[in-house]
Amino acid sequence: MKEFLSYGKQWIDDIDINAVVGVLKGDYLTQGPAVDKFEQKICELTGAKYCVAVANGTAALHIAVQALGIEEGKEGITSPNTFLATCNSLVYNSLKPVFADIDNKTYCIDPEQLKKKINKNTKVILPVHFAGQPVDMATIYDLCKKNEIHIIEDAAHAIGSKYKCGSMVGGCKYSDMTILSFHPVKTITTAEGGAITTNSDKLYEKLKVLRTHGITKDPKQMTHNPGPWYYEMHELGFNYRLADLQAVLGTSQLGRLNFFVKRRREIVKQYNEAFSDVEWLTTPYEDPKVFSAFHLYVLKVDFNKIGKTRKQVMEELTKKNIGTQVHYIPCHTQPYYQKNFGYKTGDYPVAENYYEGALSIPLYPKMTDQDVEWVIKNIIGLKN
Ligand SMILES: *Cc1c(COP(=O)(O)O)cnc(C)c1O
Repeated sequence: MKEFLSYGKQWIDDIDINAVVGVLKGDYLTQGPAVDKFEQKICELTGAKYCVAVANGTAALHIAVQALGIEEGKEGITSPNTFLATCNSLVYNSLKPVFADIDNKTYCIDPEQLKKKINKNTKVILPVHFAGQPVDMATIYDLCKKNEIHIIEDAAHAIGSKYKCGSMVGGCKYSDMTILSFHPVKTITTAEGGAITTNSDKLYEKLKVLRTHGITKDPKQMTHNPGPWYYEMHELGFNYRLADLQAVLGTSQLGRLNFFVKRRREIVKQYNEAFSDVEWLTTPYEDPKVFSAFHLYVLKVDFNKIGKTRKQVMEELTKKNIGTQVHYIPCHTQPYYQKNFGYKTGDYPVAENYYEGALSIPLYPKMTDQDVEWVIKNIIGLKN
Protein backbone atom coordinates (compact mmCIF):
# COMPACT_ATOMS: atom_id res chain seq x y z
CA MET A 1 0.00 0.00 0.00
CA LYS A 2 0.94 3.62 -0.52
CA GLU A 3 2.72 5.66 2.09
CA PHE A 4 0.42 7.94 4.04
CA LEU A 5 -0.79 10.95 2.08
CA SER A 6 -1.46 13.80 4.48
CA TYR A 7 -3.61 16.78 3.48
CA GLY A 8 -0.50 18.91 3.06
CA LYS A 9 3.24 18.39 3.34
CA GLN A 10 6.58 20.07 2.70
CA TRP A 11 9.08 19.11 0.03
CA ILE A 12 12.69 19.38 1.18
CA ASP A 13 15.42 18.45 -1.31
CA ASP A 14 19.22 18.28 -1.22
CA ILE A 15 19.60 21.91 -2.27
CA ASP A 16 17.57 22.93 0.79
CA ILE A 17 19.59 20.66 3.06
CA ASN A 18 22.93 21.93 1.75
CA ALA A 19 21.79 25.51 2.21
CA VAL A 20 20.94 24.90 5.87
CA VAL A 21 24.21 23.05 6.47
CA GLY A 22 26.03 26.01 4.95
CA VAL A 23 24.56 28.33 7.60
CA LEU A 24 25.36 25.84 10.38
CA LYS A 25 29.02 26.04 9.37
CA GLY A 26 29.02 29.84 9.36
CA ASP A 27 29.08 32.58 11.99
CA TYR A 28 25.41 33.41 12.30
CA LEU A 29 22.81 30.99 13.48
CA THR A 30 20.01 33.33 14.43
CA GLN A 31 18.99 36.55 12.69
CA GLY A 32 21.77 37.65 10.37
CA PRO A 33 22.56 37.98 6.66
CA ALA A 34 20.37 35.04 5.59
CA VAL A 35 17.33 36.80 7.06
CA ASP A 36 18.18 39.99 5.13
CA LYS A 37 18.44 37.99 1.94
CA PHE A 38 15.18 36.11 2.52
CA GLU A 39 13.38 39.39 3.18
CA GLN A 40 14.79 40.85 -0.01
CA LYS A 41 13.69 37.80 -2.00
CA ILE A 42 10.14 38.11 -0.65
CA CYS A 43 10.13 41.78 -1.70
CA GLU A 44 11.28 40.80 -5.19
CA LEU A 45 8.57 38.16 -5.46
CA THR A 46 5.68 40.21 -4.14
CA GLY A 47 6.70 43.68 -5.25
CA ALA A 48 6.41 45.03 -1.69
CA LYS A 49 8.90 47.68 -0.63
CA TYR A 50 9.67 46.08 2.74
CA CYS A 51 9.59 42.70 4.41
CA VAL A 52 10.09 41.77 8.07
CA ALA A 53 10.66 38.05 8.67
CA VAL A 54 9.45 36.74 12.02
CA ALA A 55 9.21 33.54 14.07
CA ASN A 56 5.86 32.36 12.65
CA GLY A 57 2.68 33.56 10.99
CA THR A 58 0.95 34.11 14.32
CA ALA A 59 3.75 36.43 15.48
CA ALA A 60 3.42 38.25 12.16
CA LEU A 61 -0.29 38.83 12.79
CA HIS A 62 0.33 39.87 16.41
CA ILE A 63 2.83 42.63 15.65
CA ALA A 64 1.14 43.69 12.42
CA VAL A 65 -1.99 44.57 14.40
CA GLN A 66 0.13 46.13 17.17
CA ALA A 67 2.06 48.29 14.70
CA LEU A 68 -1.16 50.07 13.74
CA GLY A 69 -1.38 51.51 17.26
CA ILE A 70 -5.15 51.12 17.56
CA GLU A 71 -6.76 52.22 20.81
CA GLU A 72 -7.89 49.35 23.08
CA GLY A 73 -11.54 48.37 22.84
CA LYS A 74 -11.91 49.23 19.17
CA GLU A 75 -12.94 46.55 16.68
CA GLY A 76 -11.35 44.45 13.98
CA ILE A 77 -13.22 42.30 11.47
CA THR A 78 -12.16 39.02 9.92
CA SER A 79 -13.62 35.84 8.42
CA PRO A 80 -15.01 33.11 10.68
CA ASN A 81 -13.53 30.61 8.20
CA THR A 82 -9.88 30.96 9.17
CA PHE A 83 -7.28 29.56 11.51
CA LEU A 84 -7.72 30.96 15.02
CA ALA A 85 -4.43 32.88 14.83
CA THR A 86 -6.15 35.48 12.65
CA CYS A 87 -8.81 36.53 15.15
CA ASN A 88 -6.53 35.89 18.14
CA SER A 89 -4.24 38.66 16.88
CA LEU A 90 -7.07 41.12 17.56
CA VAL A 91 -7.55 39.75 21.07
CA TYR A 92 -3.78 39.95 21.78
CA ASN A 93 -4.11 43.66 21.08
CA SER A 94 -7.22 44.15 23.25
CA LEU A 95 -9.46 44.74 20.25
CA LYS A 96 -12.89 43.22 19.86
CA PRO A 97 -12.87 40.40 17.29
CA VAL A 98 -15.82 40.78 14.94
CA PHE A 99 -16.63 38.36 12.13
CA ALA A 100 -18.31 38.87 8.79
CA ASP A 101 -19.81 35.81 7.13
CA ILE A 102 -18.27 34.18 4.06
CA ASP A 103 -19.34 33.94 0.45
CA ASN A 104 -20.78 30.52 -0.30
CA LYS A 105 -18.74 30.14 -3.47
CA THR A 106 -15.26 31.45 -2.59
CA TYR A 107 -15.43 30.59 1.15
CA CYS A 108 -13.74 33.97 1.73
CA ILE A 109 -15.20 36.97 3.56
CA ASP A 110 -18.25 38.37 1.76
CA PRO A 111 -17.86 42.12 1.09
CA GLU A 112 -21.63 42.60 1.49
CA GLN A 113 -21.56 41.03 4.95
CA LEU A 114 -18.45 43.02 5.79
CA LYS A 115 -20.22 46.26 4.94
CA LYS A 116 -22.92 45.44 7.50
CA LYS A 117 -20.38 44.91 10.29
CA ILE A 118 -18.50 48.17 9.83
CA ASN A 119 -19.23 50.85 12.40
CA LYS A 120 -17.41 53.82 13.89
CA ASN A 121 -15.31 51.53 16.12
CA THR A 122 -14.03 49.41 13.23
CA LYS A 123 -10.31 50.14 12.82
CA VAL A 124 -8.87 47.16 10.97
CA ILE A 125 -10.00 44.42 8.62
CA LEU A 126 -8.14 41.16 8.12
CA PRO A 127 -9.22 39.47 4.89
CA VAL A 128 -7.99 35.88 4.59
CA HIS A 129 -7.13 34.54 1.14
CA PHE A 130 -8.68 31.20 1.96
CA ALA A 131 -7.06 28.13 0.36
CA GLY A 132 -5.00 30.49 -1.82
CA GLN A 133 -7.82 32.30 -3.60
CA PRO A 134 -7.36 36.07 -3.30
CA VAL A 135 -10.23 37.97 -1.75
CA ASP A 136 -11.86 40.69 -3.87
CA MET A 137 -9.47 43.29 -2.44
CA ALA A 138 -10.39 46.21 -4.69
CA THR A 139 -13.92 46.21 -3.24
CA ILE A 140 -12.68 45.91 0.34
CA TYR A 141 -10.07 48.59 -0.24
CA ASP A 142 -12.70 51.08 -1.42
CA LEU A 143 -14.91 50.24 1.54
CA CYS A 144 -12.06 50.76 4.01
CA LYS A 145 -10.66 53.91 2.46
CA LYS A 146 -14.01 55.67 2.82
CA ASN A 147 -14.15 54.70 6.49
CA GLU A 148 -10.44 55.12 7.38
CA ILE A 149 -10.01 51.47 8.25
CA HIS A 150 -6.67 49.68 8.06
CA ILE A 151 -6.23 46.43 6.16
CA ILE A 152 -3.94 43.50 7.02
CA GLU A 153 -4.15 40.65 4.53
CA ASP A 154 -3.74 37.17 5.95
CA ALA A 155 -1.94 35.50 3.05
CA ALA A 156 -0.78 32.44 5.00
CA HIS A 157 -2.36 30.36 2.21
CA ALA A 158 -1.57 32.61 -0.70
CA ILE A 159 2.11 33.12 -1.41
CA GLY A 160 2.33 32.87 -5.21
CA SER A 161 -1.33 33.86 -5.78
CA LYS A 162 -2.33 36.80 -7.98
CA TYR A 163 -5.26 39.22 -7.77
CA LYS A 164 -7.72 39.94 -10.55
CA CYS A 165 -5.51 42.85 -11.65
CA GLY A 166 -2.61 40.41 -12.13
CA SER A 167 -0.41 41.72 -9.33
CA MET A 168 1.05 39.41 -6.69
CA VAL A 169 -0.49 38.83 -3.30
CA GLY A 170 1.92 40.25 -0.72
CA GLY A 171 2.62 43.42 -2.68
CA CYS A 172 0.21 45.34 -0.43
CA LYS A 173 -1.48 47.04 -3.35
CA TYR A 174 -4.72 47.06 -1.35
CA SER A 175 -3.50 46.93 2.24
CA ASP A 176 -1.24 48.35 4.92
CA MET A 177 0.44 45.00 5.49
CA THR A 178 0.28 41.37 4.39
CA ILE A 179 1.30 38.42 6.53
CA LEU A 180 2.74 35.10 5.34
CA SER A 181 3.34 31.79 7.11
CA PHE A 182 6.04 29.22 6.39
CA HIS A 183 4.72 26.35 8.48
CA PRO A 184 5.48 22.99 6.77
CA VAL A 185 1.94 22.55 5.43
CA LYS A 186 2.06 25.95 3.72
CA THR A 187 3.32 26.45 0.17
CA ILE A 188 6.96 27.07 1.16
CA THR A 189 8.46 26.32 4.54
CA THR A 190 11.10 27.46 7.02
CA ALA A 191 9.90 24.84 9.60
CA GLU A 192 8.41 27.64 11.69
CA GLY A 193 8.39 31.10 10.18
CA GLY A 194 6.41 34.05 8.98
CA ALA A 195 6.79 37.46 7.41
CA ILE A 196 5.07 40.80 7.09
CA THR A 197 5.27 42.85 3.92
CA THR A 198 4.45 46.55 3.70
CA ASN A 199 5.07 49.61 1.56
CA SER A 200 5.03 51.98 4.55
CA ASP A 201 8.35 53.32 5.91
CA LYS A 202 6.72 53.97 9.27
CA LEU A 203 5.20 50.52 9.69
CA TYR A 204 8.44 48.89 8.56
CA GLU A 205 10.45 50.68 11.27
CA LYS A 206 7.84 49.82 13.87
CA LEU A 207 7.67 46.14 12.93
CA LYS A 208 11.46 45.77 13.17
CA VAL A 209 11.40 47.23 16.69
CA LEU A 210 8.45 45.06 17.80
CA ARG A 211 10.23 41.95 16.49
CA THR A 212 13.09 42.59 18.94
CA HIS A 213 11.59 43.46 22.35
CA GLY A 214 10.58 46.97 21.30
CA ILE A 215 14.24 47.94 21.39
CA THR A 216 15.86 50.40 19.00
CA LYS A 217 19.51 51.28 18.43
CA ASP A 218 18.71 53.77 15.69
CA PRO A 219 20.19 57.15 16.79
CA LYS A 220 17.41 58.92 14.89
CA GLN A 221 14.80 57.28 17.09
CA MET A 222 16.57 57.55 20.48
CA THR A 223 16.13 60.40 22.95
CA HIS A 224 19.93 60.62 23.38
CA ASN A 225 22.96 58.53 22.54
CA PRO A 226 25.67 58.36 25.22
CA GLY A 227 27.71 55.57 23.59
CA PRO A 228 27.98 52.36 21.63
CA TRP A 229 26.40 50.18 24.36
CA TYR A 230 23.21 52.18 24.41
CA TYR A 231 19.73 51.20 23.26
CA GLU A 232 16.24 52.32 24.11
CA MET A 233 12.91 50.58 24.50
CA HIS A 234 9.93 52.64 23.38
CA GLU A 235 7.27 49.95 23.10
CA LEU A 236 6.54 46.52 24.53
CA GLY A 237 7.84 44.14 21.89
CA PHE A 238 8.80 40.47 21.72
CA ASN A 239 11.49 38.08 20.66
CA TYR A 240 9.87 37.16 17.36
CA ARG A 241 13.07 36.79 15.33
CA LEU A 242 13.48 34.23 12.58
CA ALA A 243 16.80 32.36 12.63
CA ASP A 244 19.30 32.45 9.75
CA LEU A 245 19.05 28.66 9.76
CA GLN A 246 15.37 28.97 8.89
CA ALA A 247 15.69 31.94 6.56
CA VAL A 248 18.20 30.18 4.33
CA LEU A 249 15.74 27.32 3.96
CA GLY A 250 13.09 29.87 3.02
CA THR A 251 15.24 31.40 0.29
CA SER A 252 16.03 27.97 -1.07
CA GLN A 253 12.33 27.01 -1.06
CA LEU A 254 11.35 30.30 -2.74
CA GLY A 255 13.53 29.25 -5.65
CA ARG A 256 11.06 26.41 -6.29
CA LEU A 257 7.85 28.35 -5.57
CA ASN A 258 6.77 28.54 -9.22
CA PHE A 259 7.31 24.83 -9.64
CA PHE A 260 5.41 24.06 -6.42
CA VAL A 261 2.45 26.21 -7.48
CA LYS A 262 2.43 24.75 -10.98
CA ARG A 263 2.34 21.21 -9.62
CA ARG A 264 -0.38 22.12 -7.11
CA ARG A 265 -2.51 23.51 -9.92
CA GLU A 266 -1.97 20.38 -12.04
CA ILE A 267 -3.26 18.22 -9.22
CA VAL A 268 -6.22 20.55 -8.69
CA LYS A 269 -7.07 20.22 -12.37
CA GLN A 270 -7.00 16.42 -12.15
CA TYR A 271 -9.20 16.48 -9.04
CA ASN A 272 -11.65 18.93 -10.63
CA GLU A 273 -11.97 16.81 -13.74
CA ALA A 274 -12.60 13.68 -11.70
CA PHE A 275 -15.05 15.20 -9.21
CA SER A 276 -17.01 17.82 -11.11
CA ASP A 277 -19.64 15.34 -12.35
CA VAL A 278 -20.09 13.64 -8.99
CA GLU A 279 -23.43 14.91 -7.72
CA TRP A 280 -22.59 14.60 -4.01
CA LEU A 281 -19.34 16.58 -4.34
CA THR A 282 -18.74 20.31 -4.87
CA THR A 283 -15.30 21.17 -6.20
CA PRO A 284 -13.55 24.39 -5.14
CA TYR A 285 -14.51 27.48 -7.08
CA GLU A 286 -11.75 29.58 -8.63
CA ASP A 287 -12.72 33.03 -9.82
CA PRO A 288 -11.61 32.91 -13.48
CA LYS A 289 -9.97 36.31 -13.12
CA VAL A 290 -7.66 35.40 -10.23
CA PHE A 291 -4.75 32.99 -9.91
CA SER A 292 -4.82 30.79 -6.83
CA ALA A 293 -1.67 29.10 -5.55
CA PHE A 294 -4.00 26.47 -4.02
CA HIS A 295 -2.73 25.83 -0.53
CA LEU A 296 -5.72 23.55 0.09
CA TYR A 297 -8.14 21.46 -1.93
CA VAL A 298 -11.45 21.63 -0.09
CA LEU A 299 -14.24 19.39 -1.30
CA LYS A 300 -17.75 20.02 -0.11
CA VAL A 301 -19.27 16.64 0.53
CA ASP A 302 -22.98 15.92 0.82
CA PHE A 303 -22.59 13.30 3.53
CA ASN A 304 -26.33 12.59 3.60
CA LYS A 305 -26.28 11.54 -0.02
CA ILE A 306 -23.65 8.87 0.64
CA GLY A 307 -25.18 7.79 3.93
CA LYS A 308 -21.96 8.25 5.91
CA THR A 309 -20.88 10.77 8.50
CA ARG A 310 -17.74 12.84 8.07
CA LYS A 311 -16.15 10.88 10.90
CA GLN A 312 -16.82 7.60 9.09
CA VAL A 313 -15.48 9.01 5.83
CA MET A 314 -12.29 10.29 7.46
CA GLU A 315 -11.71 6.96 9.18
CA GLU A 316 -12.40 5.01 6.01
CA LEU A 317 -9.92 7.16 4.07
CA THR A 318 -7.29 6.93 6.82
CA LYS A 319 -7.42 3.14 6.42
CA LYS A 320 -6.52 3.71 2.78
CA ASN A 321 -3.61 5.93 3.90
CA ILE A 322 -5.37 9.07 2.76
CA GLY A 323 -5.22 11.93 5.24
CA THR A 324 -7.98 14.52 5.37
CA GLN A 325 -8.66 17.58 7.51
CA VAL A 326 -11.34 20.19 8.02
CA HIS A 327 -10.58 23.86 7.29
CA TYR A 328 -12.01 25.41 9.38
CA ILE A 329 -14.19 25.01 12.42
CA PRO A 330 -15.84 28.47 12.40
CA CYS A 331 -13.88 30.59 14.89
CA HIS A 332 -16.96 32.07 16.56
CA THR A 333 -18.09 28.58 17.65
CA GLN A 334 -14.99 28.07 19.81
CA PRO A 335 -15.78 28.04 23.54
CA TYR A 336 -13.27 30.85 24.16
CA TYR A 337 -14.99 33.16 21.67
CA GLN A 338 -18.46 32.24 22.89
CA LYS A 339 -17.53 32.75 26.55
CA ASN A 340 -15.60 35.99 26.15
CA PHE A 341 -17.36 37.70 23.25
CA GLY A 342 -20.87 36.28 23.38
CA TYR A 343 -20.89 34.60 19.98
CA LYS A 344 -23.36 31.78 19.38
CA THR A 345 -23.67 28.96 16.92
CA GLY A 346 -26.04 30.31 14.30
CA ASP A 347 -24.41 33.76 14.13
CA TYR A 348 -22.63 33.06 10.81
CA PRO A 349 -24.82 30.56 8.96
CA VAL A 350 -22.92 30.49 5.67
CA ALA A 351 -19.63 29.59 7.38
CA GLU A 352 -21.40 27.04 9.58
CA ASN A 353 -23.15 25.41 6.64
CA TYR A 354 -19.89 25.33 4.69
CA TYR A 355 -18.15 23.72 7.66
CA GLU A 356 -20.66 20.87 7.80
CA GLY A 357 -19.59 19.61 4.38
CA ALA A 358 -15.94 20.68 4.19
CA LEU A 359 -13.21 18.12 3.70
CA SER A 360 -9.62 18.94 2.67
CA ILE A 361 -8.03 16.11 0.73
CA PRO A 362 -4.30 15.64 0.06
CA LEU A 363 -2.70 18.41 -1.99
CA TYR A 364 1.04 18.96 -2.11
CA PRO A 365 3.54 19.12 -4.95
CA LYS A 366 5.38 15.94 -4.10
CA MET A 367 2.27 13.83 -4.77
CA THR A 368 2.76 11.60 -7.81
CA ASP A 369 0.12 11.04 -10.48
CA GLN A 370 -0.47 7.61 -8.95
CA ASP A 371 -1.04 9.21 -5.55
CA VAL A 372 -3.60 11.54 -7.11
CA GLU A 373 -5.34 8.65 -8.87
CA TRP A 374 -5.42 6.69 -5.62
CA VAL A 375 -7.13 9.58 -3.84
CA ILE A 376 -9.62 10.05 -6.68
CA LYS A 377 -10.49 6.36 -6.79
CA ASN A 378 -11.08 6.15 -3.06
CA ILE A 379 -13.07 9.38 -2.81
CA ILE A 380 -15.39 8.30 -5.59
CA GLY A 381 -15.60 4.85 -4.02
CA LEU A 382 -17.00 6.34 -0.80
CA LYS A 383 -20.47 5.94 -2.31
CA ASN A 384 -21.01 2.28 -2.98
C1 LIG B 1 -1.11 28.88 9.26
C2 LIG B 1 -1.96 30.06 9.40
C3 LIG B 1 -1.66 31.12 10.27
C4 LIG B 1 -0.58 31.05 11.32
O1 LIG B 1 0.65 30.72 10.87
P1 LIG B 1 1.73 30.00 11.83
O2 LIG B 1 2.99 30.18 11.04
O3 LIG B 1 1.31 28.58 11.95
O4 LIG B 1 1.76 30.72 13.11
C5 LIG B 1 -2.45 32.24 10.23
N1 LIG B 1 -3.51 32.33 9.42
C6 LIG B 1 -3.85 31.33 8.59
C7 LIG B 1 -5.03 31.50 7.68
C8 LIG B 1 -3.11 30.16 8.57
O5 LIG B 1 -3.47 29.15 7.77
